[in-house]
Amino acid sequence: MVTSSLLSGIPGIRHGFGSASSLVPAELAPVWELRPAKRQVHGTRVAAIHEAKQEVGEADGFHTALPGLPVSIITADCVPLLLVRRDGTQIAAVHAGWRGLYDGIIPAALAAMGAGAPVVAAVGPTICAACYEVSEELAEDFARRFPELPRKVVLPAYRHLDLRAIAEHQLRAAGVEEIEHVGGCTCCARDAAGQPIYRSYRRGDRGSQMHSGLYITTKGEK
Ligand SMILES: [Zn+2]
Repeated sequence: MVTSSLLSGIPGIRHGFGSASSLVPAELAPVWELRPAKRQVHGTRVAAIHEAKQEVGEADGFHTALPGLPVSIITADCVPLLLVRRDGTQIAAVHAGWRGLYDGIIPAALAAMGAGAPVVAAVGPTICAACYEVSEELAEDFARRFPELPRKVVLPAYRHLDLRAIAEHQLRAAGVEEIEHVGGCTCCARDAAGQPIYRSYRRGDRGSQMHSGLYITTKGEK
């Protein structure tokens, strides 16, 4: 499990990013059964969660202000993004692959959270630019989509897309100032024994993927 010190510093919030050895973060275990039933489709729909085991259908972002209800996403190379209001009143989990970033799921999630205290963000284990080669057409589409960003930020190398950098750019553009990047590359990070730390679709992992998520603890818990 991978955690963010930025998010850990907010009282009443439990969170975790999955890894190959811990597909569901242990921090989420107490409420895991209550998670929404969902299908991620690389879209931009952000669902409000208001009841346990909610049937949300197709969505790639989830937010709630209710204690005890987890929001989570599944990833294996895409950006797993966890958002929390500084005052701990609201949380969101966002699955942002290239299509979600391109189409704007991050601004959509922030808009869905509405007004309130500043939002802080943790960007979890994501495929690195060196591992993420895309078609020339897609690379050029991205360069055009974010004209305000230097080309070498979007594409640090020919046809290599930096998903993390684009996610951070969208967060900052939407007014998020506190952003922490945690975990390594889902594709190339290895442990001391040389084994992959994360699941990676690009590397060939199929089937079980990693969950990342968070919840607001019920009143009284620290
Ligand atoms: Zn890598």
